Amino acid sequence: MSLDYPRSAPVLGAQGCFINNRWEPAASGRAIPVVAPAEGVVFAEIAAGGAEDVARAVAAARAAFETGPWSRLTATERGRLLTRLGALILENFDELAALEARDCGKPMKTARADIEAAARYFEFYGGAADKVHGEQIPFLNGYYVTGEREPLGVTGHIIPWNYPAQMIGRTLGPALAMGNATVLKPAEDACLTPLRIAELAAEAGFPPGAINVIPGLGAEAGAALSEHPGIDFLAFTGSPQVGVMVQQAAACNHIGCVLELGGKSPQIVFDDADLDAAVPVIVAAIIQNAGQTCSAGARLLVQRSAWDRVIPRVAERFAALRAGLPETNPDLGPIISERQQRRVLSFLDQAAADGVPVIAQGARAADAPEGGFYVPPTVFGPVPRDNALACDEVFGPVLAAIPFEDEADAIQLANATDYGLVAGVWTTNTSRAVRVARKVRAGQVYINAYGAGGGIELPFGGVKKSGHGREKGFEALYEFSALKTIVIKHD
Ligand code: NAD
Repeated sequence: MSLDYPRSAPVLGAQGCFINNRWEPAASGRAIPVVAPAEGVVFAEIAAGGAEDVARAVAAARAAFETGPWSRLTATERGRLLTRLGALILENFDELAALEARDCGKPMKTARADIEAAARYFEFYGGAADKVHGEQIPFLNGYYVTGEREPLGVTGHIIPWNYPAQMIGRTLGPALAMGNATVLKPAEDACLTPLRIAELAAEAGFPPGAINVIPGLGAEAGAALSEHPGIDFLAFTGSPQVGVMVQQAAACNHIGCVLELGGKSPQIVFDDADLDAAVPVIVAAIIQNAGQTCSAGARLLVQRSAWDRVIPRVAERFAALRAGLPETNPDLGPIISERQQRRVLSFLDQAAADGVPVIAQGARAADAPEGGFYVPPTVFGPVPRDNALACDEVFGPVLAAIPFEDEADAIQLANATDYGLVAGVWTTNTSRAVRVARKVRAGQVYINAYGAGGGIELPFGGVKKSGHGREKGFEALYEFSALKTIVIKHD
């Protein structure tokens, strides 16, 4: 296998804030160091944007939306630009994949898949831009009524560090397709690919002000963006704690928001499941991105009658897992930061203190640097139903196995967390699969499959503490637009 992950990956990001298609220094003059999580070393820096920079970006987006060339483009022209950006991402594939791998610590194969997905988002929404149309509404005699979709205005986007390249495509793609002008605040822990993709957008021909990116700390740039009165809609992905603050800020400005806040998604395995198909997918769904995936399959619910057949197979796979450097294409990479590593390890310590049995544990690869933020992938069980491992989002490669008795118990257990994002149902009984899928409270349910966050075409989002609103697919185009009813009186 070629090791196309350069240890001297391009150092970028010190340019500042991306406003009106230009790099501008942050008003603060401060920089934030960027750490490579696989090695624990600083390899780049980004500007510490703040309220002043956000205000300039919002003004640029407002001008683009109201009077700039962006406001005059047809839907087809917007679609063409998005498609061109998708193509440019693919033309710069190796550079972007290396950057994503170094910034996030992702295995190269994962980083490459993420860059391809980023390109796909822009392609998908490029193709969709001129396919959203209104409708004629039957009304009284003498009236002609249409409902048409119009952009919301200036949209604010705050994204996390777990999938920076995919997230810029997921959140900006539909907003731009509908004609909004955008301001993005990427996460301070990983934002190099969004900064580079913004630069590529200018190269693709997006007019000034359509896409603005302000890197910086959440409490500074993020808070300033969510509170800015010039924003017409907010899209946030991240923790429930910050999600509440963003929703409060949206309420204060009387605007809407879409929130995607994580999960504790169940994989429900009935005793008639095809285990050859189920087990590899169950393990992949929790170790993907080292468990730092909002839709990770973090709870393994196993029918008690199948426990002794399922658990040894899962254990065997877990014991063989190795966490290592991106260029070695390990099973999983490190955790994003020392802070998050401490947080994940604290769950392992607490589980030990609570006496929760470890079923199996993988390890750090022999050549993984000491300074990297690695966590051993671990499956615990049987986990008591009220234990933190059964209820709280760990956001690491930690799987909680819990036995259940029958279908009713499985549904009750699946719904027994504050979250509701994704669920997997493994059974060869189609009627049962459909019954369970309908009763589980989640935005997406997979039957005999599991796609942690996958599927650009598939509407995605949560219920309960997982948030509200839908991203991806055509649904996102409706989130980022408003329906206007036009009533025409005629003779
Ligand atoms: P976070 O919510 O603090 O950060 C997400 C984004 O919000 C980042 O861009 C951050 O800069 C910004 N932000 C932080 N404070 C803000 C504020 N006051 N106002 C506006 N924006 C602000 O998430 P985190 O601390 O990076 O991770 C903590 C936990 O969040 C994780 O352990 C995990 O449980 C969860 N998380 C979920 C997702 C997801 O995809 N749903 C992604 C990342 C983290």
